[in-house]
Formats: sequence, C-alpha cells, structure tokens
Amino acid sequence: MTDPAVESLCSLLPKRLERLGEIAYNLWWTWHPEAQRLFQRIEPVLWEQTNHNPVRLLRQVPRRVLNSAVHDSRVLSLYDRTLEDFDRYMASGEVQAERGELVTLYEQYFGESWRNGPVAYLSFEFGLHEVLPMYAGGLGVLAADHLKEASDMGLPMVGVGFLYLQGYFRQRITEDGWQEALYEPLDFDNLPITQVLDASGNPLVIQLEMVGRVVHFRVWKAQIGCVPLYLIDTGLHENRPEDRVLTQRLYSPDPDTRINQELVLGIGSVRLLRALGIQPSVWHLNEGHPAFTALERVRELVQQGWEFARALEAVRSNTLFTTHTPVPAGNDRFPQWHVDRHLRGIWNVLGISREEFMALGDDRGDFGMTPFALRVSAKANGVSRLHGEVARAMWQWMYPNGDAPISHITNGIHTQTWLARRMRKLFDRYLGVGWINRLDDPETWTMLDEIPDEALWSVRKHLKRKLASFMRERARAKWVTHTQHPVQTIASGVMIDPNALIIGFARRFATYKRATLLLQHVDRLMRLVNNPYQPVQIVFAGKAHPSDEPGKRLIQQLYQVIKNADAAGRLVFIEDYDINVARHLVQGVDVWLNTPRRPYEASGTSGMKAALNGAINLSVLDGWWCEGWNGRNGWAIGSEQTYADEDEQDRADALSLFELLENVIVPMYYDMDEEGIPREWLKWVRESIRTIAPQFSTRRMLREYITEMYLPLACNASAALSLDANHG
Ligand SMILES: *Cc1c(COP(=O)(O)O)cnc(C)c1O
Repeated sequence: MTDPAVESLCSLLPKRLERLGEIAYNLWWTWHPEAQRLFQRIEPVLWEQTNHNPVRLLRQVPRRVLNSAVHDSRVLSLYDRTLEDFDRYMASGEVQAERGELVTLYEQYFGESWRNGPVAYLSFEFGLHEVLPMYAGGLGVLAADHLKEASDMGLPMVGVGFLYLQGYFRQRITEDGWQEALYEPLDFDNLPITQVLDASGNPLVIQLEMVGRVVHFRVWKAQIGCVPLYLIDTGLHENRPEDRVLTQRLYSPDPDTRINQELVLGIGSVRLLRALGIQPSVWHLNEGHPAFTALERVRELVQQGWEFARALEAVRSNTLFTTHTPVPAGNDRFPQWHVDRHLRGIWNVLGISREEFMALGDDRGDFGMTPFALRVSAKANGVSRLHGEVARAMWQWMYPNGDAPISHITNGIHTQTWLARRMRKLFDRYLGVGWINRLDDPETWTMLDEIPDEALWSVRKHLKRKLASFMRERARAKWVTHTQHPVQTIASGVMIDPNALIIGFARRFATYKRATLLLQHVDRLMRLVNNPYQPVQIVFAGKAHPSDEPGKRLIQQLYQVIKNADAAGRLVFIEDYDINVARHLVQGVDVWLNTPRRPYEASGTSGMKAALNGAINLSVLDGWWCEGWNGRNGWAIGSEQTYADEDEQDRADALSLFELLENVIVPMYYDMDEEGIPREWLKWVRESIRTIAPQFSTRRMLREYITEMYLPLACNASAALSLDANHG
C-alpha cells in the first residue's frame, strides 16, 4: 500500500475499518455486490448521492457515522468477509482449488502460467461503472468487461485509454422531447483512480513530439482487480488550448481533434508503457482508433537500426485488431491532406516515402483507420459470426485474392458485473459452490432445473419491483428540482405496475436501431398497452450522438407518443441512459427488445445481460442473436433475411413484432396458475439462462481470444524478440 492517495484516504478512517480506503480504490468492488453493500450500509443516502462513488463517500461521511459503524456488528462482519474475499482474489484472481492447490483459471485451462509480458489492450473508451463516465456505449462496456475477465482469470493485461474531463454527455429531455446534452467537468481527485507518479514521487508527465509542438500528458490509473488501466490526460497548462481539450470529450466530430486524439492514444500508449517499464507481448487494438500505436513501435525499431519492412513485420507479428463497425460511416477515415497536416514528416522518421506511408492506410484514396489497422496487425476479428462475414465482405477489396483475413470471436458479458445480487444468491444455492469458476461450462447450468418455480419467480418479482422503485425515485428527484413539466414525471415511469409485463428497449438512438419500429402501428401499440386484463408496459432509454440530428428526432417522435395520455403512463422514457440505468433495466424487465436493421448490429451485448437475469430476448436475427436463438429461448423478429429495400424490411419486421407480442408473448406471460406463477414463461426463462449465460460470457470469449489470438501472437513476439537480440 504505497500509493499516497490510497494512504491518505485510509488515514481518514477508524483503524478497525481502515482498509475500506484500499477497497475503494480497486474497482474490484464494481463486480462484488457485497462490497457495494458494505459502502451502502455505512451511509445509504450518501451512497446514492455520490452516484455510488466510495472515494467521495468515505471522504464526506461524518466521523460520527464512521465511529458508530465501528460498533455495528453487521458492518464489521461484512467488512471482514469482504476483505477476506478481496485478499484471496488479489493473491490469485478467481481461483480454482485443485487437489488442495490453488490455481488461476488461466492455469487450469492452459497449463502453466503466462510467462510473457502482459497483453496491452488499447481503447478509446472503457465502461467500468457509472462513476467513471469514460464510455459512450457498447464498445466501452465490452472493453471494461474484457479487463475484468482478464483479472478474474489471472491473465496478465494492462489497459490504456483516456480520462475524459467531461466524460460522455448527460442527457436531458425537454418537454417537447428534444435531447439536450450537458457536460459537467469531473473531479478527478474524488474518483476511484490514482495519479501515476515518477520515481521521485512527482506526477509522471510524458511528452510527445507532434507536428509543430510538444504535447504533454499525465497519467491516471484505475485498478481493476489485478489489471491496471492507465488513463491519459492532456489537460495540462503546458499544452496549447487545443491540445488540452484532446481528452475533454469522447468522439469529437471535429476531424482535427479526432486525428490528434488517435495520435495521442496510439503513440502515447507506447511511450507510457515504456516509461513504466512494461513490455507487452501482445498489442490488442479495440477498434481502429488506437492503431497509430504501430507507428511508434516501428519507429523504435527503425531507430535501433532496423529496416522499415522488417520492423513493420515484427510489429505486425504480435498485433491484434478487433473491428466493431459494420456501418461504413463508423470507420474513421481522413483525406490525405488531413494526414499531411497532422503526421507530416513521420514517414521520414520511419525511413519511407509519403506514398509508401499513405499506402499503409489507403482506403480507396483516403486514409482509413480500419484498413491501416488491418495492415499493421497479424490477426483481426469481428465480434459475432455474422459480423465476421460482413467485415470480410466489407474489406475484401483490400486483398488481391478477395479473402480478407478477418475471423470472428463473438462478444460476451462479464457475468458478475451484470448479474443481480438476488439472482446470484439463487445461483449460489442451486448451481453448486464455485459455479463462478465453471460459468462457461454448459453442464453448470443444467442445475437450473433444480430451482423451484416459486423461488425463481419470487426473485424475478423482486427485481421488477426494484426497477419500478428506481424509476419512481429518479422521477421524484427530478420533480423536486422544479425543472420538469408534470407530464414528464408520468413519462419517466411513476405509473409502472411491477406485476404487469415490462418490456425494455435501451440503446443508442442511431437510426439503424429502429427505436420507433413499434410506432409503425400506433393503434395496435395502444391496444396492447391498454388491454385492461393483460397490459403491456415498455421502458425506453438511450442517447443519440449530440450531432446526430435524425437520431434526436427519433427520440422526439417516441417521446410524443409516450407523453400522450392514451399511453396511460405505461410507455416510459428514462433519461440519461448509463451503466446504472442499464443495470436496473436488464435486471428488472421481462422482455428485452432489440430491433436493429440487419446486418448493422455487430454483436450487441445488452440482450446477454438481460438473459442472465431472467429476461427473455425478442430480437431481430442480427449480431449475437443469430447464434444465441434456438427457438425455445426467446423470439426472433422477422426472418434471417436481409432486404434490399429498407422500407420493406421495416414493414415486415414491424408486422412480425406485433404478431409475436399479441399472439405469443403477452398471453404466455399472463398465463399464471392459482398461485400467480407463469409456469410456461418460467420454462422459457430457464432455457434462456441455460443456453445464453455460459456461451455469451466474457469467460468463453476471453478463452477464445487466448487460444486463437494471444497465445499464437505471444509466440510470434518471442520469435521477433530473439530476432531483435541477434540483430543487436
Ligand atoms: C451493455 C451496454 C451497452 C451495449 O448494449 P447494446 O446491446 O450494444 O446496445 C450500451 N450502453 C450501456 C450503458 C450498456 O450497459
């Protein structure tokens, strides 16, 4: 315990509870509900007010409250248990006892421990928890889940990303349904992150030579169990104003900012890891944004006397690229003059011509980050089977034989992050001790049949009530600010009946996600909602990118219908979708609705989270659902067909959606016996958990990354290093 920030927090606390400070600074608590309960128990109101931030909670909680906690036996026993779990975890990750010996999951699956340097995982965003709003959506949440799983399995990994001063925007909906974006600066010193210091105890500052100036950045660290995540922050007075704001916001639409962000993350990540003495054996690029990292690694070798071509080959040999974007506009590309402006001269340093350099990123005349990433990586993958096919078709023009070397590894979710505490207790009881260590084994989940309907339904009802009270309390907090029209209070879910069917729809409001598909037949929608015997309730949430006008118009269209008294308060829009809202939704709804226009959903992960908690998926056969659906574990909207005409596809899918709701889903949910238990529904719930929980977990996903990607690439790295040695 040498970090001054951690020490200073611990020193504020009574001796008996001192190590709370240590736990607060390790995001291990974000996937251990008992640790969260511990913080909550100390001061429940402050826990909510701080948006679940243990560092702020411990700094602000009055001393007398801490003093009385020292005499609260429930707090103390929770504290002791949590510390015991934490210490065991930090000693070796989630562990498997084998003949009395403890081995990490990595060792259990792959034999001896990983002997190479760590895997470096680079990403523009990481969605770890609501207190660290350094994510916009699924890409970031996936990145964070990937790091958490690496920690659980005992795979050495380091992450590198940005610490955004204003995070992603907070969403407010005006009375007429228009999305407003609010940006609030974060207070870094009160977040569960620490500043990285140099050998003499001063903040570490790294310098990057960029065209015409030097950019400085400092570094923060989020500790994720055993995995460190380093976060770059250019908000230093030494920098020009336009460089200070490089780490201000996610996804700037300004191309100058964007390319400079990509340079800072790409080159900065190499400089930073070198400064910390970390020598990765594999470099994993999450999306094309960090791909410039290859330039810096090539430059290092060229400066040691390597020829460019050999240096590039060595760098490629242990670089992996994961693409996520089947929508062409989602792949960053820059005109060549733009690259001239911001990378001018870099080709001289690398010992190649401008033309050779531009060829590396050639995207039919422009410089594209995805083609560049593909050319500097030995391996590449899409994030679902269907997306792999789409990505190969999208990039086949780059390859003379027409075969793009892009495989796929389907995304998963970090089970412990997304599983409701009460559901976890049920699984602990029926799936057998240590089921977490076997969570990707389908065999583990056959034990679901042992859970009595009564017990399963009672947890489901609890989670539905929790969602309803979450919406009510958010609405109340908003109401007392005097900034809301009463109809917005209704629209935010205060009239939801937790006993009636609840459907959830939460995702980015991009047009291809078709949030308004249900509005194709408003009359039918209103009949479903207002059925006096079998009412349907639908909860929507999601943000449109601030510069996406069509996306914002979708929210407005939907909001008009939600606000209409005809919707009876049963259609709801929760403002400001984030990880906290997502958690309540995926745990509390009965049906998870997803309506992307095929094949634009690369994978999607929220439906996996919902399934884990006992919601049933109702989705277009796109992304992961193509692989997940078996006909008995949820419903497929439309067929496995991609239409040439978008309107025709929308019409067909809307009809299919209404037919499923009217004829299958609503009647099945309300088919309850004398005890009020929907037996047939619970059969589907069980089949959904049984088939989806093991397969669509980050445990299964990371094992595939290790076998197919990390281990072969790490071997390449050793080969390249011995080359390096021979050369020297
Ligand atoms: C899981 C998650 C996502 C990704 O969900 P999709 O299925 O890809 O839409 C986005 N945002 C948040 C906050 C999430 O938790």
